[in-house]
Amino acid sequence: MTSSPGRILLAAPRGYCAGVDRAVEAVERALEHYGAPVYVRKEIVHNTFVVESLSARGAVFVSETDEVPVGERVIFSAHGVSPAVHAEAAQRHLDTIDATCPLVTKVHKEAVRFAARDIEILLIGHEGHEEVEGTAGEAPDHVHLVTGPDAVDDVTVRDPEKLVWLSQTTLSVDETMETVRRLRERFPKLADPPSDDICYATQNRQVAVKKIAPDADVFIVVGSANSSNSVRLVEVALESGARAAHRVDTAAELDPAWFDGAGTVGLSSGASVPEILVRDVIARLGEWGFGDVQEVRTATEDLIFSLPRELRAELKSAGQSHTRGRSTSLDVAPH
Ligand code: SF4
Repeated sequence: MTSSPGRILLAAPRGYCAGVDRAVEAVERALEHYGAPVYVRKEIVHNTFVVESLSARGAVFVSETDEVPVGERVIFSAHGVSPAVHAEAAQRHLDTIDATCPLVTKVHKEAVRFAARDIEILLIGHEGHEEVEGTAGEAPDHVHLVTGPDAVDDVTVRDPEKLVWLSQTTLSVDETMETVRRLRERFPKLADPPSDDICYATQNRQVAVKKIAPDADVFIVVGSANSSNSVRLVEVALESGARAAHRVDTAAELDPAWFDGAGTVGLSSGASVPEILVRDVIARLGEWGFGDVQEVRTATEDLIFSLPRELRAELKSAGQSHTRGRSTSLDVAPH
């Protein structure tokens, strides 16, 4: 711990993105409107605190739709689902509320469009991640998963003249570009996606971390272990010059030994992390001598997504407010 006053460089933007904010509010509003239980397939967002908080209020998290009683209501998480999951839900006569982030839906639509033109898709992403399973499930005969630069040599395609790459929304921008560079060495005709698949929130959080990292003796990222974008922020901090970096779910996981001799702590949080958890970390670090908190802002975000269509319609027909907490609402139309 520091003997002289230490400072915290607090990254901005950090924490909740528009897709997470919307998905969490969808569960809250469904609980208020329908009452408990409300079933949710998979973690609505990858954050332990959020999942535990919603569970305490009556949300029931399940791994698959066949765990939801026939005829009940289920919410699909922000990470998206494949068409097969929609079909299973229909077979079980489930009422569904699809909280898939519109920016994930955009990637799904791209996959469908390219597959319809018989173009093979090199999908850069993490094996087993729910988002990747959902996107791949849109075009299983056309998608090849590429897990990173080192996996490029193992890729086999039918026609190297008809290829496009797409990606998971929460990857490291730099590592993804390296994967693309190596893919293009092997497949010079590889086409780019029509627009960035790595979403604005992932990119903005990485840029803010990069700015702070060179000054940070220790970098703390608040986020859960299964949160892809949170884990990436730790990697980005280290690659960008932080002397050490750690991910914690909550302030309770901070180890005082990490801050021995440190003067500057960098601090950020993943896109699924409520601000209260960051405030707890700031309070704990303050007790340890890091009382000077300076925000370092690299972008301003004002994107808001409206509630999922099914929930909006239900609330509207019940005469309840179906708008979001703030005054403007911005739908991203699927491409
Ligand atoms: S991280 Fe990006 S893609 Fe994922 S929910 Fe947030 S805004 Fe959507």
